[in-house]
Amino acid sequence: PADPADPYRVVLLGAGGVGKSAFASIFAGAADSMDSEDCEPCGDKVCEKDIEVDGETATIILLDTWDAETDNDWTLERYLQTGDAYLLLYSITDRASFLRASELRITLRRLRPVRHTPIILVGNKCDLVRRREVSTSEARACAAVFDCKFIETSTAMQHNVWEAFYGIVRQLRLRRDSG
Ligand code: GDP
Ligand code: MG
Repeated sequence: PADPADPYRVVLLGAGGVGKSAFASIFAGAADSMDSEDCEPCGDKVCEKDIEVDGETATIILLDTWDAETDNDWTLERYLQTGDAYLLLYSITDRASFLRASELRITLRRLRPVRHTPIILVGNKCDLVRRREVSTSEARACAAVFDCKFIETSTAMQHNVWEAFYGIVRQLRLRRDSG
């Protein structure tokens, strides 16, 4: 959006079970939201909320509406075109979900050729250290190839989840401010 007051549409992507709904509920339950009732009318899959990042308020509409198990390619393509920015999740305990994230990144690049569509590769469940199947260095290298940011999170420990949202807002502002 060109106007700072316009909401940003942020889309949660990733294989089933990686933690998208957990991400969405942390976002929805934010105590520092300007109006904690915001999410009620939207249901639990779409949540609109004002958050403050670097002293400036941003309105985010978070979408978690894609059913990775049942939806077909056409629904996915449509879903992939609805965002201003994307949180591309995998679980560090599930190599297949990491490969799925790579596929989604490739599809996204095809559908959203705009170079500066903000995408953050999110390695969730980093609390489950003993079950790790994807190393931090491999994921970071992958993010570099994919031209996106990278962060490891744990919704269970509430670790870095907000940093991921703040990162998305900062990237959206950079894009906005650079024209
Ligand atoms: P979704 O299918 O991507 O929406 O995944 P969910 O949010 O439903 O999470 C799937 C399962 O993983 C649930 O049992 C969550 O409690 C669990 N989970 C999600 N995030 C984490 C995390 O960071 N750490 C751990 N240990 N479990 C998590
Ligand atoms: Mg879910």
